[in-house]
Amino acid sequence: MIPVVHHPDYVAPAPAGSAYLWNKNGLVRDLLAAEAGRVIWHEPEVMPQPWLEAVHDPDYVAEVREARVPAHKMRRIGFPVSIAVARRSERVPGGTFLAAQLAQQNGYAANTAGGSHHALADTGAGFCVFNDLAIAAVRLADEGRARRVLIVDCDVHQGDGTAALTAGRPDIATYSIHAEKNFPVRKARSTIDVGLPDGTEDAAYLEALERTLLPLLTSFDPDIVLYQAGVDPFANDRLGRLALSGAGLVARDRWVAETLRRKSIPFASTLGGGYGTDAMEVARRHVTSILTLGETALGACNPMAQSASDPT
Ligand SMILES: [Zn+2]
Repeated sequence: MIPVVHHPDYVAPAPAGSAYLWNKNGLVRDLLAAEAGRVIWHEPEVMPQPWLEAVHDPDYVAEVREARVPAHKMRRIGFPVSIAVARRSERVPGGTFLAAQLAQQNGYAANTAGGSHHALADTGAGFCVFNDLAIAAVRLADEGRARRVLIVDCDVHQGDGTAALTAGRPDIATYSIHAEKNFPVRKARSTIDVGLPDGTEDAAYLEALERTLLPLLTSFDPDIVLYQAGVDPFANDRLGRLALSGAGLVARDRWVAETLRRKSIPFASTLGGGYGTDAMEVARRHVTSILTLGETALGACNPMAQSASDPT
C-alpha cells in the first residue's frame, strides 16, 4: 500500500479574500480515502521551531506562528495568515519530513500537501508560507538521515524559494523544470533550471525532463529525492503556460517513479500548484499523481488489503 501523510490541520478554513483553492487538500484526502486498500495513512508532527528557523528568518517564523504577518508580506503570499493557516504552515513541513522518512523505509511516500517552493527566508510568496521542501531537506541532511538530498520540482513555476534557501549547500541540489515566462519574473538559480517555452506539449516536455534530469541523478548521486509534483503544467491550468495533457502528467510521474526505482533512490512527493475553477478536477489530478507515483514505485497494490486507519 502507498504510505500517505495527512493531518486535519492541512484543511484550514479559507481566509477571507483568498484566491487559493483552500478545499483542495480536503478533497485530495476524500478521494484517497475512497481508494480503500491502496493507501495507508500517517499523521505528521508539527515541524519544531528550530528547524523552521534553520531556513527561515526567526522574526518571520514568529510573525507566522503568532499570526501577525505584516500586510506587505501577506500580499506577497496571496492570502491572510490566520491562526489556522499558521497551524497548517508548521504542520505541512512536518508532513514532508515524515513522508521522506517513510520513503526511506518503503521506497516511496506522499504528503497530501506541501511543495511550497516560493517561500523565502524572511517572507512567504505565491501561496507559500514556509518552504517545506527546503526545511525537510536541511533537516534530513543535518540530522545525518541523508548524505545528499535532491529536490526535483516539476511545478510549472520555478522553485525559486527552494533554490535560494538551499544555495551553497553541497549536500542539497535543486532541479526545476518550468515555464520560463511564468511567475516568478525574477528567477533564482537552481542547480539545474530548465525553462520551457509557452505551450510546450507532452513529447517535448518529457524529452527535456529526461535529457536534463538523468545527468543530474548520475552526477549528484542523491540518496533521497523530494519531488514537487505540481499539476499546473496541465494545458488548462489557470496559472500555467504549458500544454501537458492528463496523459502527459501521468507519463511524467511514471517516468520519474520508474527512473528513481530503477536507481534504488527513495523519494517522497508533495503536492504543488494546480489551479482552476473546479477544485474537484484539480484534486483528481493530484490524486492521480499520487496513485501513479505510488503504484509505479511500489508495484501494484493488493486490492484485498485494507488501510490500517481512516483519515481524520
Ligand atoms: Zn505552480
